[in-house]
Amino acid sequence: MSIARLPECRSWRQRRSGLALSLLLLALAASPLRAQQQAYVGPLFDAHLHYNEEAQQPHPLADVLGRMQRSGVRAIVANSRPNDGTQTLAAAREATAAAGVRVVPFIRLYRNRADYNSWFADPSIYQMVLDELKRGTPAGPYRGIGEFHLYDSANADGPVARQLMQLAAERGLVVLAHVDDVAIDKLMTHAPQARLVWAHTGIGGTPVERVRALLQRYPALMGELSYRPGLTDGSGRLSADWRALLMQHSTRFMIGSDTWVNQRWQYYEGLMQEARAWLGDLPPEQARRIAWGNGAALFGVE
Ligand SMILES: [Zn+2]
Repeated sequence: MSIARLPECRSWRQRRSGLALSLLLLALAASPLRAQQQAYVGPLFDAHLHYNEEAQQPHPLADVLGRMQRSGVRAIVANSRPNDGTQTLAAAREATAAAGVRVVPFIRLYRNRADYNSWFADPSIYQMVLDELKRGTPAGPYRGIGEFHLYDSANADGPVARQLMQLAAERGLVVLAHVDDVAIDKLMTHAPQARLVWAHTGIGGTPVERVRALLQRYPALMGELSYRPGLTDGSGRLSADWRALLMQHSTRFMIGSDTWVNQRWQYYEGLMQEARAWLGDLPPEQARRIAWGNGAALFGVE
């Protein structure tokens, strides 16, 4: 019986393996095509960019502008440690215009690495911010403060953190803060009218539900998405819960490169390409807002 059925079995197996092969070929053919078709192709607003002291020699102005231009980045939030890097970008009016990049300057709170851990209680930092505001930049007045870090959310209650939040609210400056969710509550309590951009939207992996609750609680809070754990799955596509959050609040998020070390400059184009890939998982109008429109609206860039 088994011998009699053998030819039939074999032919069925052959058919089955033929089908499997066809499906595999289809999948191989379709996956790069799918990624290519779906990637977001419009302009990008890099809402979290540093041009720090150590980046400027290996990546001079022409190099960083070339990377932005090749990536379709049309505007940047520029800040640096110390603020000279931002001044350099802001002063290069012709070069930035030629590259099609608008510079939105922010005041960084750090003169050096030591300032990362003490700025919130250091009155000389507040004075430096006032001096920088008075000085302005060749690209116009500073538009924001940050990025600053609070590794312990209790320091959000430090005197300088409080003063800077209130200054931001008074002068209409945007604040870019690398903090946890507890510090978001604290900073917003100091200045409920302040426009706060949450760098990384919780780099420690704040649960999506908590992010959603904070966005609903503070209408002026926005999230920048570099380094956000869980944003994408292993293949670089948006995870289901983040896709739902971004679709629900598509006016509240921006993308960023966070070029905090030179390696991030080295891979700048790749980082922007990764963003384009997951942006492609959103409806086109919402992708464009997160990629460009929200930053453009926040800073009045056309
Ligand atoms: Zn950063």
